[in-house]
Amino acid sequence: MLKRVGLVILLSLAAAGCAVSPTGERTLLLNSPAQMNALGSQSFEQLKKKQVIEQDARINRYVQCVADAIVMQVPVEYGYAPQDWELVVFKDDSVNAFALPGGKVGVHTGLLKVTENQDQLASVIGHEVAHVLAQHSNARMSQQQVTQLGLAVTSMALAEKVDSNKQQAAVMALGLGVQYGILLPYSRKHESEADVLGQELMAEAGFDPREAVSLWESMAEQGGKTPPELLSTHPAPSTRIRQLDDQVHYYMPLYEEARKAGRRPECDRLKPQ
Ligand SMILES: [Zn+2]
Repeated sequence: MLKRVGLVILLSLAAAGCAVSPTGERTLLLNSPAQMNALGSQSFEQLKKKQVIEQDARINRYVQCVADAIVMQVPVEYGYAPQDWELVVFKDDSVNAFALPGGKVGVHTGLLKVTENQDQLASVIGHEVAHVLAQHSNARMSQQQVTQLGLAVTSMALAEKVDSNKQQAAVMALGLGVQYGILLPYSRKHESEADVLGQELMAEAGFDPREAVSLWESMAEQGGKTPPELLSTHPAPSTRIRQLDDQVHYYMPLYEEARKAGRRPECDRLKPQ
């Protein structure tokens, strides 16, 4: 009986939160954008208190210049105005960047050492902004919530048969690897979607979309013994690089149009040597 109640809850949750992602994938979103934005902002405030923030004005101007050009191209239907975005450069040698719901973007200074030019940096920032626009945090958390609910239902069902110690052990075993968290790696599907949307954003901002391919190729080469942190959260298998490469011919016209229309970011002149 309990099991059946659980199923009904699962099904009605699934019906309530189904949405379509920017690339047309059906996706389960159980949390409201307002909830997610609050969670994102909260987490970002905590990170700012815990981590060292880069104070070098030149570095900040360089990264901000790239981010500004990208967020200017976010279509209005996503509900973000350019001034809604907050960018923070963290003084951290690990090669990483991330984004949180509510328009929060974090860039580690380590990333600036491997990105050879503004276009490569733009490909990472575009990708991170795309995760926010596609509500990937919400999708990932919703998946975890369904799993958690599934576990709760299983534990109720188990409770009828076994004593509470065994029941707890069973739930813990099932729960292994199931974590709530806003900074966990995304699925391959989300990575691929962020690549598509991110490369489009960078091209529209006037950054060369071919540089996204170059960056991931050199990241993959650097793999080996001590892979950059970005690789552990953003695996760069050949399929991923091929996808970026395949998209280039599609985004080159957008890039050329952007250049013609005067969108020619020159953040490189600020790039710290
Ligand atoms: Zn990603």
